[in-house]
Amino acid sequence: MTAHRPRTKVAVLGATGAVGQTFVRLLEGHPWFELADVAASERSAGRTYREVTRWIEGDMPPAVAELTVKACDPAVVAAPIVFSALDSNVAGEVEAKFAAAGRLVLSNAKNYRMEPDVPLVIPEVNAHHLALLDVQRANRGWTGGIVTNANCAATMAAMALAPLHQAYGARRVFVATMQAVSGAGYPGVPSLDILGNVIPYIGEEEPKIEREMQKMLGVVSGGAVNAAGFVVSAHANRVAVENGHTVCLSVEFEREPSLADAADTLRGWKGAEAVRGLPSAPDVPLHFFANDDRPQPRRDVMRGRGMTVSVGRLRRDPLFHLKFVAMGHNTIRGAAGGSILNAELLVASGRVGVE
Ligand code: NAP
Repeated sequence: MTAHRPRTKVAVLGATGAVGQTFVRLLEGHPWFELADVAASERSAGRTYREVTRWIEGDMPPAVAELTVKACDPAVVAAPIVFSALDSNVAGEVEAKFAAAGRLVLSNAKNYRMEPDVPLVIPEVNAHHLALLDVQRANRGWTGGIVTNANCAATMAAMALAPLHQAYGARRVFVATMQAVSGAGYPGVPSLDILGNVIPYIGEEEPKIEREMQKMLGVVSGGAVNAAGFVVSAHANRVAVENGHTVCLSVEFEREPSLADAADTLRGWKGAEAVRGLPSAPDVPLHFFANDDRPQPRRDVMRGRGMTVSVGRLRRDPLFHLKFVAMGHNTIRGAAGGSILNAELLVASGRVGVE
């Protein structure tokens, strides 16, 4: 795609929420995409974005502030590429309507992630899963389609595990998370529940982490995903951090790596070739720390403009083989930024038409 081409119009569904606002911020000045429409619930539709949005971070882009919020209906939202940051109560029905109307939907909601014909994609990890779109269109008679990205904690864990799994084959994975409050949407967790506190439960989070990683680290062949065979046990905790999910992993492998080999594998990983150089791709998808006290959300969350996952504290595990810590930005790498990178990959690979 050359710089002088007109930008493709895109829309954000659920644009008023925490993830929706992150889309709006990341799409400001995007070289390939122009944010043409914002949509949300009937409560917000018909009023300006400025009026209905409790803006969380920085300044609201002035051009978007004056847009009239639309209903989430393909009859009134015309863009060919649609980013969905919808609440899962409505995402199922709404996203299917857009896909049936010929739109390419990049979804952050849980509804379609585990459907066999729906790609669940971290571009650097499993770009080849986008081939499932052809199966999906044939199965469902859609001219558009749905591509999903994973639960935000599963994304950090899967990115850090990907190179090690590819090299040594993961067999058993133990995961304990410390997840930021922005992961609960806006206004999210009441301050009196979270300040000075840790909440050892996040509704529906553990089952997502326990099943989504195997799909992403699986291989597509014959039009279906052969999920990776490892077992995951997850503990999900909400902590008083604004942005950035930290994930502690202990992993047993088919072939036990030495610490030095595992460190080299993490350090040298570049991810899928097709992703390199895309506008939202970070220079380094995984940043490996050799020092003892990193990664930390406050210091590392914006590495690679929020798209790099930081990994550190690699050491021997007395129960399994290795343990380490991964951390990344939940609403950027774990949601809106990941979706935009998926869309860029689809455009670059010719899977979505652009004028
Ligand atoms: P949020 O802040 O609660 O925002 C929800 C959005 O959905 C709002 O724009 C809201 O619009 C819209 N909505 C609610 N009911 C609707 C309806 N009946 N019709 C149309 N729109 C409706 O939630 P969030 O944290 O941004 O999460 C959005 C999605 O991304 C969820 O599915 C979530 O699980 C997923 N996700 C979140 C994160 C994260 O880190 N936060 C990470 C990965 C995935 P109104 O303002 O008009 O009500």
